[in-house]
Amino acid sequence: MRRFAQLGRTRRVATGIMALVLASLLGGAVALAAGPAIQTFTPHSANQITNLDVLRQQIRNYYGDPMGTGNFASDSYYAKEATSVANAGARYLAAHSHQHGLKAIVLDVDDTTLATWNYEVFSNWAYNPTTNATYVNGQLFPAVPGMVDMVTKAAKEGYAIIWITGRPATQEAATLGNLTSDGIGVDAGYPAPTKLVDGEDGLFTKPAVADYPAYLKTACAAEISAGSSCTTIHYKSATRAHIESLGYDIVADFGDQFSDLKGGFTDQTFKLPNPNYYLP
Ligand SMILES: [Mg+2]
Repeated sequence: MRRFAQLGRTRRVATGIMALVLASLLGGAVALAAGPAIQTFTPHSANQITNLDVLRQQIRNYYGDPMGTGNFASDSYYAKEATSVANAGARYLAAHSHQHGLKAIVLDVDDTTLATWNYEVFSNWAYNPTTNATYVNGQLFPAVPGMVDMVTKAAKEGYAIIWITGRPATQEAATLGNLTSDGIGVDAGYPAPTKLVDGEDGLFTKPAVADYPAYLKTACAAEISAGSSCTTIHYKSATRAHIESLGYDIVADFGDQFSDLKGGFTDQTFKLPNPNYYLP
C-alpha cells in the first residue's frame, strides 16, 4: 500500500531526490547526500511544535472519534472535508463528460477511496507491514466519505475507472474485494475497475521489481540501478503515462498524498485530506 512493499511504509526513508536535483543543478559530479524525505522548517522553540500526544487528540477529534475507537463519524470534519473534495471532483467530471474519445479517472486506494482510520488508531500511527496486511487482507477498510457517489457518477458518465495503488501485487485480490462487493469483510461498494482497451485490468498494484513492465523499467531506471523500487511519483506518473499511451485522457487524478498527484499525465488533480502520514 505504500511506496516500497519490501520496506513497508517509507515515510522515514530518505529518497535522495532533492540531492539528485541539487547535484544536477550544481552541474557537478557531487556525491549524493541523503537528506530527510520530508522538507519542512526547523522549529527554534518547542512552543512552535504541537505536542505529539495533543496532536493525536486533535486528529481523533477531526475524525469525530475523540475516544479513539477506530470508527470515524459520518458528521465529522474529516467526513465533511472528504465529501467536499469528492463533490468538487464530481462537478468537474460532469462539466467535462461531453469530451469525445476515451476518458478516465485515476484513483489512489488508501485514504483516497478506502479510509485507513481504523488502522491508524490500532497502530497508534506506527505503520507495520505485517499488522497492516491483516487489515488489507481482511478487507477491513470503509469507503472514504463521498467517493463512492463520485466514482459511480463518473462511471455512468462514461469515464473509465482506474486505480493506481502502491499496495503490492500480492494484495490485489483483497484490494479489489474491499473496494467492490465480494461479500468478504467490508464492501465499500465502488464500481468495478474498468478493463482497459488492451485487456489490462483497471486496478494497478505495484509489481515486484523483477516483474516491472517496460514503462516502469524505463521510468525507474535510477531507482532500479540503486537497488530500490520505483518512487511513488515515478511509479504512479509512469503508469498514468502508460494509460494515456493507450488512448485515454486522464481527466482527473484523486489522491491523499502529493506523490499521488505529481508528475503530470492528468488534466486536473484532487487532494483528499489525510493528516496521518506523509509519503514522499
Ligand atoms: Mg493514499
